[in-house]
Amino acid sequence: MSHLREELLRRRDADQEARVSVPRGAPNALANTMRIDDENAVWLREVVTKFGWPGRSVVGDDGAHAAWLLAQHADRDPALQKHCLTLLEQAVAVSEAEPRDLAFLTDRVRLASGQSQIYGTQMTPRGGRFAARRLADPETVDERRASVGLEPLNEYLNRALELYGPPSPARMICPNCSAEIGVWLPEPGARTTVECASCHSIWNVRPSIPETTMPVVTQT
Ligand SMILES: [Zn+2]
Repeated sequence: MSHLREELLRRRDADQEARVSVPRGAPNALANTMRIDDENAVWLREVVTKFGWPGRSVVGDDGAHAAWLLAQHADRDPALQKHCLTLLEQAVAVSEAEPRDLAFLTDRVRLASGQSQIYGTQMTPRGGRFAARRLADPETVDERRASVGLEPLNEYLNRALELYGPPSPARMICPNCSAEIGVWLPEPGARTTVECASCHSIWNVRPSIPETTMPVVTQT
């Protein structure tokens, strides 16, 4: 096993272990995930600068997939994420990486730069289930998904529901009375209004950018 592949797999495992504990609400789980993402991004930047994109002929199928995962989660370094998208496009063109991985990273980068996603790979909890985030041409999404080997969007969203269970709304603390309020976060740039069930004050909520931090709350 090449050293690079070994390190990719180690970092993939750290990424996944950190994420498992986030929905369970483990203390510091989100901060821990962000720290690991940052470390992985710094490392990935070095790797792609020195060696270019780690394709499957160098690091194997699992190593190439792990490299994609690190790029996918480098949300806090948008320049790196964008650069990796270009490299991954080139890698897919010569069969060194998977078209479906490219689809996921394409959607991620597009959403992060304020565009609509193309393949519907990026979802958000909404109304007790999972929904595709802002999506271009929804009526033809399944054709685009099929072209990169992805199942129809509805199957994907239902599978997520089976896998993770019904999602809970994001929780915020009422700035007025400190009661907990559940809120389904809208798209970045949009805002939603919630009423505190305890003190009946009304709040504007909008996702912060980057979305890995707490939402911004203002009074109406
Ligand atoms: Zn309140």
